[in-house]
Amino acid sequence: MEIKITKTTSPKQKPADLSKLGFGQYYTDHMFIMNYDEGEGWHDARIVPYGPFEIDPASMVLHYAQEIFEGLKAYRTSDGSVQLFRPEKNMARMNVSCERLCIPKIDEEFAIKAIKTLIKIDEDWVPSMDGTSLYIRPYVFANDVHIGVHPAKHLIFAIILSPVGAYYSNGIEPVKIFVEEKYVRAVAGGTGFAKAGANYAISLKGQEEAEEQGYIQTLWLDGVERKYIEEVGSMNVFFKIDGEVITPALVGSILGGITRMSIIELLQSKGYKVSERRLSIDELVEAFKAGKLEEAWGTGTAAVISPIGELKYGNLVMRVNDGKIGEVSQMLYDTLTGIQWGKLEDKFGWTTKID
Ligand SMILES: *Cc1c(COP(=O)(O)O)cnc(C)c1O
Repeated sequence: MEIKITKTTSPKQKPADLSKLGFGQYYTDHMFIMNYDEGEGWHDARIVPYGPFEIDPASMVLHYAQEIFEGLKAYRTSDGSVQLFRPEKNMARMNVSCERLCIPKIDEEFAIKAIKTLIKIDEDWVPSMDGTSLYIRPYVFANDVHIGVHPAKHLIFAIILSPVGAYYSNGIEPVKIFVEEKYVRAVAGGTGFAKAGANYAISLKGQEEAEEQGYIQTLWLDGVERKYIEEVGSMNVFFKIDGEVITPALVGSILGGITRMSIIELLQSKGYKVSERRLSIDELVEAFKAGKLEEAWGTGTAAVISPIGELKYGNLVMRVNDGKIGEVSQMLYDTLTGIQWGKLEDKFGWTTKID
């Protein structure tokens, strides 16, 4: 499929101070759009000036949340080129999400071509300051003008780009996490393994209550027994207990992160034992009490590694590694960000240049 390109005649002012980019505050000059209509399939691929959609008030997505998204980044390397990190994994996951939400699949190679073409056009927007990147947000939503409940026959796939700041501007800071016992994010059989906007709507309440108590994020337990550890906020979670690195197995209610996958592969390549298994909160508490909880961290595209310095479970406050970043967490952060920004050799073949 051809991508029709219409360039803007009024480019936006780019943010002057790259140290204040933050996350999701700025969007580039262009966006990619294509439509799906039953009988026609995906069609009308185009890059157009960034601007609002016109949506009918009865558009299905506004009522029933049939929507999925992806999140990845483009990195400016020191030789001035721009590269992506495992985009084929994101696009494969996008189709897993589509399948679950009854959204027609999208050609993965074509979606990567769309991302690359769009970035090429807005290449000047890829920031170069240390730790900054261009966040890429592909998403699909139902757009039938109909408030009946059924899988959509008319959808929109779009990609927008946002220059984002360094996640850590003053070095990595371990976060305080609240173990959520009242609310749940997902259950097996539901949509937890899909990157669906609806999963985020569901998680807001727990997040809000954690914040009210002075915690940054929630540690989600399984929705059935409130016993097994699943994720932390919108990140996957890892623990190092008595030398063993443990991350919850992907049991259907957990989102399979690309960062999680990469961290596992990286650890294994360095000879660490990594267990993907169920880990109960009781096992974690026991390990903590025995002085065997050595490190804990979250993983995701935004922060890469987010060390956990404290976990609150009921009345128990568990300090991890004295509230400081651990050795393995630091090594993982340095290695993965090194590969992403092209400072370290990419032995795994994870990066793809945009040219
Ligand atoms: C996106 C996401 C992650 C992290 O996935 P990455 O591909 O590593 O960015 C983890 N959990 C949830 C719920 C997510 O939505």
